[in-house]
Amino acid sequence: MEDSFSSHRQKSKFLSEKAKTLIAGGITSELRYALPFPIFISKAKGSRKWDVDGNEYIDYSMGSAALLLGHSHDAIVDAVNSKIGDGTLYSALTEQELEWAELISDMYPSSERVRFVGSGTEANILAIRIARAFKGRSKIIRFEGHFHGWGDDTNVGIKFPFDKPVTHGLPPNVVDSSVVCPADLKYVEEVLSKDKDIAAIILEPSGASWGTVPIPDAFLQGLRKVCDLNDVVLIFDEVITGFRWSPGGVQALEGVTPDLTTLAKNLTGGLPGGCVAGKSELMDLLDPSKEFKGLQAGVFHRGTFNANPLSTASGIVALEIFKLGEVQQKADLLAGKLRQNFSQIFKKHEIAGFVYGESSTFHIYLGSHKKDDLTSLNAHGLKGIPQNQVLDFQMSLRSRGVDLLSYTGGVTSSAHTEDDIERTISVFEDSIVELIENDKIPRL
Ligand code: PLP
Repeated sequence: MEDSFSSHRQKSKFLSEKAKTLIAGGITSELRYALPFPIFISKAKGSRKWDVDGNEYIDYSMGSAALLLGHSHDAIVDAVNSKIGDGTLYSALTEQELEWAELISDMYPSSERVRFVGSGTEANILAIRIARAFKGRSKIIRFEGHFHGWGDDTNVGIKFPFDKPVTHGLPPNVVDSSVVCPADLKYVEEVLSKDKDIAAIILEPSGASWGTVPIPDAFLQGLRKVCDLNDVVLIFDEVITGFRWSPGGVQALEGVTPDLTTLAKNLTGGLPGGCVAGKSELMDLLDPSKEFKGLQAGVFHRGTFNANPLSTASGIVALEIFKLGEVQQKADLLAGKLRQNFSQIFKKHEIAGFVYGESSTFHIYLGSHKKDDLTSLNAHGLKGIPQNQVLDFQMSLRSRGVDLLSYTGGVTSSAHTEDDIERTISVFEDSIVELIENDKIPRL
């Protein structure tokens, strides 16, 4: 498997060796680690991308789910091109920024005020700071396997074992300020009844890692009630679900309004950026004309690239498209077809595992657990596929021109076509056969 992958990717192989001497770890984000080496991409358009060796890929990573419109969508390219000659950073407000904020507020029930930031990670750092400042408490509740970027506050509980940080370098008080819970309302209620220092609950409203570990039915509604009863801020991290699950994210779909929402990725049409959107009483802490507990403003926040003109122009165009809901419908339909056909292939080849997902995502579980009650399969189960199995699975598909987002899943975009889906299904079956032949995938 590895030889055939490498022989068609000699330039990537060479560059990946060079990268190790220039870039820390040879990669620019941990997610880009791959075996036997990462591929180097030279261009992308629509549903496809091409590597430096000329190999073509149907892309289900889509900029780590930031490109619901596909690569280089004409409207985004035009928006950026028409703006770039007017200056790229003014360090000042723009009229367009207000237009962008207005679009967000129209779509997101929780958005009374918006503050733009540089990324999804920054959005969560700021949302947590606002919640802590507002409540005058220090701890947050988060959930096993949920991902909120690489900021200090949310780096306990991402991977198994969930009571441990995923990194060294966190001060003990930061580690102690994360209370990691299973997605179980009773458990959360019990924590809140004992610990009076909880400022906020933060979660991915899709369930951990864009739905890799779904949450129980009515969990969001339950959390809303629990937060109200216990006077705790509810934060929805809609960095992935925002605009993708529906124009108004999961909150509009489920009718649950959090106090704060974090958005990024599709918010900017795939350019750098993000925002916190939320209730004015919380967001007012960012107002330098207002005093809060002896400080003006109560919460400090800056950022050179916040709402930069290019991300703003691209974001406005993207949101104008997203608000119609059509691109989401198309991407959802295509992901549904993939899920259905992958499932059939699993059955045919007697693979131990199952295919699942919602919205425009697909997830693949490899292992002995059954699908019957997905939510009783906890984060340990669904995120517990051995790493080598995951990397082999990714490599087998990648060597045939299908690239996943992370782990064993991917996302569709409105740029994917029926042809892409047909081709992917055929490639998927070839990969499964190869993995079986090499004893790299569990069987029933
Ligand atoms: N929150 C979620 C749910 C994410 O999936 C991500 C990134 O994948 C982040 C936050 C961090 O966003 P960024 O990579 O823009 O910092």
